[in-house]
This record gives sequence, structure tokens and C-alpha cells, in this order.
Amino acid sequence: MKTNIYFDNAATTPVRKEVYDEILPYFMQYYGNASSIYTIARESKKALEKAREQVAKALNANIDEIYFTAGGSESDNFALKGIAEAMGKKGKHIITTQIEHHAILHTCEYLQQRGFEITYLPVDEYGKISLEELKNAIRKDTILISVMFANNEIGTIQPIKEIGAIAKEKGVYFHTDAVQAVGHVKIDVKEMNIDLLSLSGHKICAPKGIGAIYIKKGVAINPLIHGGAQEKRRRAGTENIADIVGLGKAIELANEEIEQNVTKVSALRDKLINGILEKIPYSKLNGHPTDRLPGNCNISFEFIEGESMLLLLDSKGIAASSGSACTSGSLDPSHVLLAIGLPHEKAHGSLRMTLEHYNTEKEVDIVLEELPAIVSKLRDMSPLYETFLKQQK
Ligand SMILES: *Cc1c(COP(=O)(O)O)cnc(C)c1O
Repeated sequence: MKTNIYFDNAATTPVRKEVYDEILPYFMQYYGNASSIYTIARESKKALEKAREQVAKALNANIDEIYFTAGGSESDNFALKGIAEAMGKKGKHIITTQIEHHAILHTCEYLQQRGFEITYLPVDEYGKISLEELKNAIRKDTILISVMFANNEIGTIQPIKEIGAIAKEKGVYFHTDAVQAVGHVKIDVKEMNIDLLSLSGHKICAPKGIGAIYIKKGVAINPLIHGGAQEKRRRAGTENIADIVGLGKAIELANEEIEQNVTKVSALRDKLINGILEKIPYSKLNGHPTDRLPGNCNISFEFIEGESMLLLLDSKGIAASSGSACTSGSLDPSHVLLAIGLPHEKAHGSLRMTLEHYNTEKEVDIVLEELPAIVSKLRDMSPLYETFLKQQK
């Protein structure tokens, strides 16, 4: 029997059945424009505001602090460019980290070309920033700190509450890209002193192309998309009601189930990690041993290429991801793995498997069965491994 195991949930997730069912009526039945006044449009408006409430509740935000966007990338762009424009007169310095998603890093590069100065905080071997270094980086002209909640590659969770406290004390806005954390880590924007937070639907079993941003009341920010008066004039465009409904439902479910899912998924993750480290020599866990996303397993295997591992796993019906970016046409290994200090060759030989609540122990067992043989096979073909073995003698 051909297996079909999806262990790449940090890349995207399938839409949940409950979410799919909730969305369907908004295509053909309730298709009204939420800005119109007749009955059918009021259904759309009602659905829009219900979803806003669901998102707000999951973050402990106020309902009027949630704005819908077309995904995590847009929310990140909105936060950075919007704050930069609104606050550019006060200062032009932004602090972020070396391990952010490209939606943050490439936006920072764009702002750099437009006269902003960016400090990229380094991380330790586990992928954590230093609070001391953050404090020291803050200047009179610092307008924004943007630190991701949890990393998409190695799963490391940052000390968000402590960062929020520092930002508050210094009077600097704090944005966090929480795309990977939402639904997997408890978030309370009030307790954590978060001013802006990005999230995305397709990482929590809602559709792709829908996301949201939390903007604390009173934060000065310019819109990214100009046009109609939707989203309190902060994000123009006729609302994508169907997907917004899906996002609302998905975040509500994820939050209701968070405790049981964290327990279940972390147990699967630990079984996978420990099994691999036990069965496969010259393998090493990347990321933090405990402060990591419940579903994240990222391991480097010496002497082999991540890409070839992915192909052999795929031939067994297993979908995973690697830390090398050859598929995207670049020979550079992941900037995150380099930032935690991995040399190029180890970064290239890394494998990321990310689990969700619907994954099973049986699937973990199958991967633990297949992976050692795949690694052995590739090492047998590896000149690096041959040299290493010769040196051992
Ligand atoms: C996936 C992801 C994004 C981008 O979200 P999209 O909805 O795909 O645009 C941003 N940041 C992180 C950490 C992500 O994992």
C-alpha cells in the first residue's frame, strides 16, 4: 500500500472539514457585498463581524483591533511599511532578527533602500534572541521591534512577553509575526504587550490567501492597500467573506482544542525526534529542546543532502521539507540554520517535519521505519561519508 503522510504542516495545512462546511454557503448563497444594505448583504456583514470576534477572542484582543488581510505576508508588509510610514518622522530605526520569515526580511530590505536603518539581532545556537542585546539595540530613533513568535523552520519560541515588556518600557511599538504560533501556543496580546500581530489562515487549517493583523488601539499606522472604506479605512477591498468565515472558524477550533492538541502533537514530535536521534548516527536536533512548537522536528544529518532525502521520502509517500533551498533555485542553505551556527554542509543536510493534530502515531512509526534506510542509502553514495569513514580507521 502506498502511504500518504503529510509532515509539512509548517508550509501549509489542509482545510479542516468543519471549516470547509462553514465556508460553502458564502459562495453561492450568501454572496452579498458586506458594504451594501439589503438582506443578503447583511448576512455577509454578520459573518464578517462574527469572524472578527472569533479572531479577537483567540488573541484576547478587542474586536475593533482585528483587520483581515490576504495572508501572513500582507500582514507583515502592512505592519512594517505602515509603521515606517506613519512613524518615519519620529525615527528611522527598526529592530528585527536574523531568523525572520522572508515576508519580514525582504520588507526590511525594501525599507533599508528607502532610508530606514535595520538592526538584525543574532540568535544563539537554539535560535533565541538575547533580551540584553535587544535592550542595547534600542535607540532614541527606534520606532519598531519586530520579532517572530515562533520560527517556521526550527520551531523555536521567543520570550515574547519579556520582549513586549521591554518595548513597552522604552515606548517602542512591538510587532510579532505569529503565523506559526497561532493555534499552537497560547497568545494573549494584552498580557504580552503586543502592539501588532500577524497571522495566516492556511497554517491553521483555513484556506490560503486569507490572514489578519491585530493592531492595538491607538497605534499609528498607514494603510498598505488604498481604496474603499473597508476595515475602518485601513485595508481597502471588498472583503473575502468565505475565507474570512473559514479563518474565524479555524482559529476558534484551534483555540478550543489547543491544550489537547499541544499534548498530543508534542508527544508525537518527541517520539519522532527521539526515534530519529536513536536510530540514525551523526544526526542532531536543530532548535530549542523545550521552547519549540509542538509539531516541529528539524534534524541535521551529516554527509547527505536534504533534497535527496526529500525525493526518497516522497517516493515512499512522505511529504517533508529541507533546510536547503535548491528547489527554489538558490544554492544558499537556510538563513535560519546559518544563524544558529550550522556550517553550510550541515545546513544542507537538514530535514524539517512538521506535524498537526490530525497526524497519527502510526504515521510517525512509518517514518521511523523508512527514514534510517533512506539516510543509509544516501550515505553509502556519499563521497563525504566515504572520506569520513576512511579517516576513522
Ligand atoms: C507562512 C508564513 C508567512 C507567510 O504567510 P502567507 O499567508 O503564506 O503569506 C509569514 N511568516 C511565517 C513565520 C510563516 O510561516
